[in-house]
Formats: sequence, C-alpha cells, structure tokens
Amino acid sequence: MLPIDPHADPSRRAWLACPACRHGDDCPECESGRNCFVHWQYLIRNEGPRVFLQCPTCAHWWTADTSQSDWRATASTALQRKRF
Ligand SMILES: [Zn+2]
Ligand SMILES: [Zn+2]
Repeated sequence: MLPIDPHADPSRRAWLACPACRHGDDCPECESGRNCFVHWQYLIRNEGPRVFLQCPTCAHWWTADTSQSDWRATASTALQRKRF
C-alpha cells in the first residue's frame, strides 16, 4: 500500500468512485449521488480540469478529467458539518 500523499488534506475531498477498490459500490449513500461520509477521495491538487486524487481506503493514486465526468468536490468541510 502506498503512503498517503503529504499534500492530502481531509478538508479537500472529492466524490468519485475509486477505480482500484470501488469502495463506494453497494453503498446507498454513494449511489444516491450524495457526498458520502465514508467514501470519498483526497483531492491532492488540480490543474485546470484535471484533478489528482488519492483513495484513503486503498491509497490508489490517479487523475481524472473533471470536464467530462460526473464528479463533486469541496474545498471545505462546511458541507460535512452541515449534515451532522
Ligand atoms: Zn480505493
Ligand atoms: Zn458511500
């Protein structure tokens, strides 16, 4: 398992399915399109439409093009706090 990137910040999250472990599969929260409290990715950084993500479950690291995918991210914990 890879180490978690030192730039990973739990307050910067993205909600995308992890291509390695698919940790959101069978989760009703994820499938409903909500920002699941359990399943999210570290948003390491972004360059234009390209984002660099790391999965906190399996430490898989990958990039995604946000201009052509269904993705959600937040740079703050405000959303999380509101829900709990
Ligand atoms: Zn994963
Ligand atoms: Zn979930």
